Amino acid sequence: MIVAIDGPSGSGKSSVSRAVATALGVGFLDTGAMYRALTWWCLDSGIDLDDRDAVAQAATRMPLEQGYDPDAPTVAVAGRDITAEIRTTEVSTRVSAVATNVLVRPVLQQRQREAMAAIAAETGGVVAEGRDITTVVAPDADVRILLTASEEARLRRRSAELHGTTDDAAVEATRDQIVRRDREDSTVSQFTVAADGVVTVDTSDLDFDGSVAAVLAVVRR
Ligand code: C5P
Repeated sequence: MIVAIDGPSGSGKSSVSRAVATALGVGFLDTGAMYRALTWWCLDSGIDLDDRDAVAQAATRMPLEQGYDPDAPTVAVAGRDITAEIRTTEVSTRVSAVATNVLVRPVLQQRQREAMAAIAAETGGVVAEGRDITTVVAPDADVRILLTASEEARLRRRSAELHGTTDDAAVEATRDQIVRRDREDSTVSQFTVAADGVVTVDTSDLDFDGSVAAVLAVVRR
C-alpha cells in the first residue's frame, strides 16, 4: 500500500500522514525533512545556498538517515541526530532557496523514490508526504491525496504550533512566513490544486481526528 499525500504548510499534512501510517501499520516518509536536512547541512558546513552546483552536489553526497517509525520519525546526517535542528526558524525561512534549486530537486526526488521502496519492502507499505509526491515522486501510488485547508485555518494551526496561541499578533507573525514559503514553493511544485486523479481532502472544518478519518476513508474506499 503506497499512499502519497501533498499539501501546503499548515494543512495538517505531517501529523495526519503519520497517524494514517500508524493506522495502516506501515512506515512514514517526510520528504520536507530531506529538503530541511540538506538546508541544515549546507548551513552547518558553510556551503552558500545560492551556489546551485555546490548545493546539488551536497544533495548527492549527504549521508542522510531517516527513521520511518510514524510515531517517532527521526533525521540524522553523518550520524548526528538533527530531528530538532531542522525545525528552527532559520531552516524554515531558508529551505525554499534549496527546494527551488532545479539541480537539487531531481536528486532528492530520486532519493525519495528509493527511500519509499525501502520502507515499503520493510513494512509492507509507506505513507509519503510532501509537495510533489502525488505528481512527480510517486504518480503511480495506490492512493494520492491533496490535503488542503483555507488560509485562515492553516495560519491558525501553524500559529498555535509555533507560538502556542492564535491571537491576532501571532497569526500575523505566522502569515508572513507561511504565505511567503508557499508562494516560493509553488513556483516548482503543484500543491494548491489537485492534479488529475488526485483526491482533495479539505480539512478547514475538521479537527485532527476528523482529518485522519477522512484520509483513511479515501484510502479504504
Ligand atoms: O513539509 P515541510 O514544511 O517540512 O517542507 C519544508 C520545505 O521543503 C517546503 O517549504 C518546500 O520548500 C520543500 N519541499 C519540497 N518538496 C517536497 C517537500 C518539501 O520542495 N516534496
